[in-house]
Amino acid sequence: MIVMKFGGTSVKDAEAVSRLARIVARERRPRLVVVSALSGVTDALLDVARLAEAGDGVGVLQAVRGLHRRHEEMAAIVRATERRASLLAVTDALFDELTAIVRALAVVEEVSPRARDAIVAFGELASSRIAAAALEDAGLPARWLDARAVLVTDAQHGAAAPDRAATDESLRALVRPLLAEGLVPVVGGFVGATAAGLTTTLGRGGSDYSAALFGAGLAADEIQIWTDVDGMLTADPRVIAEPRVVPRLSFDEASELAYFGAKVLHPSTILPAVQLGIPVRILNSHRPEAPGTLVTRSVDGGDGGPAAIACKRGLTRIDIASSRMLMAYGFLRRVFEVFERFRTPVDVVTTSEVSVSVTIDDRRALDGIVAELSTFAEVASEDGMAIVCAVGERLRTDARLATRVLGALEGLPLAMVSQGGSRKNITVVLRDADAPAAMERLHRRFFETEDAARAALAIA
Ligand code: ADP
Ligand code: ASP
Ligand code: MG
Repeated sequence: MIVMKFGGTSVKDAEAVSRLARIVARERRPRLVVVSALSGVTDALLDVARLAEAGDGVGVLQAVRGLHRRHEEMAAIVRATERRASLLAVTDALFDELTAIVRALAVVEEVSPRARDAIVAFGELASSRIAAAALEDAGLPARWLDARAVLVTDAQHGAAAPDRAATDESLRALVRPLLAEGLVPVVGGFVGATAAGLTTTLGRGGSDYSAALFGAGLAADEIQIWTDVDGMLTADPRVIAEPRVVPRLSFDEASELAYFGAKVLHPSTILPAVQLGIPVRILNSHRPEAPGTLVTRSVDGGDGGPAAIACKRGLTRIDIASSRMLMAYGFLRRVFEVFERFRTPVDVVTTSEVSVSVTIDDRRALDGIVAELSTFAEVASEDGMAIVCAVGERLRTDARLATRVLGALEGLPLAMVSQGGSRKNITVVLRDADAPAAMERLHRRFFETEDAARAALAIA
């Protein structure tokens, strides 16, 4: 069997959902369909939560009404009258429930993480209903499943961690029998529930992660991530005008790229796939015939350059110098304990004899972190930094590549340079304002000029 996950843009409107139905219908293998909220809906629901917190009762109801209308309009794609009526009834019920929740929250002007999850989950709960009805309408034996009955998580609202054993158990009990009967289960991504039944979410972009967790639990033959680009591209298309598709990637390459900003895959997606060696395919729902990107355990490194480049912007660098001259052992432990205590992940780390520099993405606890580090070290922090990295198996085997990457950045002030233990990436930290130039230079160096040269040779 396979898992087919459709992102927000692949369910954004009636036309997109019709495309989804055609893609799922064309597939002959048993399949589980996972969908995101309609594009923009998760953001809109987070806005609703903010309005409720601000006590804006009128604004909250207006926003929910707008969302209700958008979902209601989608029901028009269902042609069978009875099916359309029941989809509309389900949609009405969902939005009535949401209205009741946010109205109450706006009165008390308080939205706990738990309540925020309850609100945000409506995006996937509603979109999955629409997708299931559209599939049925296309003649497929679709069965909607409540994601909260399938994905079991801990209670860390907003960034819940899955309980793999419990989730596998519910997949066995709820999904396998449907697949065995030849039915097509449809479930919302991103959303889960605690063992006690409280609604949770996996963190932004988490539908990919749901798909991978389901794929692993069902020992799928393939996990397909259907999106709005042709696959993993050599760079973020919002930064580089004409990136190319990367046809093959290893799990390691894909996870480094995802972690360092290639939003097309949620960074956690790869983990469950890696454990069972399940291939992940990134495909374009606008061009289903395009081959996409296939991510597998290993790829032939070849003799070219990096597989792709990525950047992560708006970061903060923290320099931590040991105030006792030389770095005594135990210093690094103390430093990282502080980040652990404030639950703040560190992206890049470099060290010297007397100091450690790290970058962080999540600035919420910055003041606390700096205050605590300052009790035993000299600390300086700087906002407005970015990570730019080149990723590829070839970096490990071709010693010249790292030099060529740095060479391409000549003249740009680099704040940190790091090549991790995997040696599959070379990462630099620089000023955020320099990130686009750095990306352009790297892209030209590795994905444009060489090509141009090869093309010229072919002509000659
Ligand atoms: P979905 O709604 O399908 O989950 P996302 O917006 O989460 O889609 O991810 C797809 C987007 O990721 C693309 O539209 C593209 O703008 C962005 N992106 C960033 N870096 C890359 C990359 N290296 N390759 C492909 N897409 C990328
Ligand atoms: N709808 C969620 C989000 O926008 C999850 C996802 O799309 O993957 O973050
Ligand atoms: Mg996504």
